[in-house]
Amino acid sequence: MANFIDDIPEARRETLVARTEPSVAKSSSSLVPWLLLITSVLGLAGLGIFWWLKPSPPLANAPADSATADVPPPVNPGATETTGAAIASESATIAAASPTDTPANSEPDTPNSLLGHRPYPLADASGLVTISTNAMVRLKPEVAQKVETMMTQARAAGIRLDVISGFRSLEDQEYLFFELKAERGQTTETRAEVSAPPGYSEHHTGYAVDFIDGAQPAADLNASFENTQAFGWLKENAAYYGFEMSFPKGNDQNVAYEPWHWRYVGNQESLELFYQD
Ligand SMILES: [Zn+2]
Repeated sequence: MANFIDDIPEARRETLVARTEPSVAKSSSSLVPWLLLITSVLGLAGLGIFWWLKPSPPLANAPADSATADVPPPVNPGATETTGAAIASESATIAAASPTDTPANSEPDTPNSLLGHRPYPLADASGLVTISTNAMVRLKPEVAQKVETMMTQARAAGIRLDVISGFRSLEDQEYLFFELKAERGQTTETRAEVSAPPGYSEHHTGYAVDFIDGAQPAADLNASFENTQAFGWLKENAAYYGFEMSFPKGNDQNVAYEPWHWRYVGNQESLELFYQD
């Protein structure tokens, strides 16, 4: 090493001399290429060492980096495992939940209700019959028969129980909901408290009726109906004929109290219609 270091200045001197004095350069010409080669080799080697050492500081720091780099790998696999497990358990939950939840939860809550009113299929109008006291009122035959008996029994007790409304078509309900809403300048929510949107009225089924008291027409279709004798009779007797009040005070559909509106739940079809939840 010491020889090489000593030789380098000489070689440089020689090359300098060789440039300035070609004759001298010629005399020592045999040494010059070798010295140049050694210089360049050493120079390249020096550069090589420099570049090799230059990346090495990062490599020297690597223990810290690789330590931190090593930490994430154990963490990452763990994380991916947990997320993987989470996804697996989620999908398992979904898979397990979907068969039962889809029919039970999503259907009744979201698509089945509108402004608190449930959708009802339209009764086949050709299968409906009118009642003896009002040719405008059409009901399912079984319901009409019960209503006739109820009116007869009530009248026997001196009470003028009657029915003002039964089956309603979509057009009937469109008028009641949209046209009256516009006429009265009501908000949608306000209208929905007292009337169902078309397709969402129990009257579509032919199983719902609006009772009145023939002795007190002022109480027709309003809350004061609860003070009539007809309502008193219904409260005591309607259940015996398969009827129940659809919208009592504080009903979970948030529909306004309607003491005059009753529905028939005396057969399987009507029960499934009104208790479809
Ligand atoms: Zn009604």
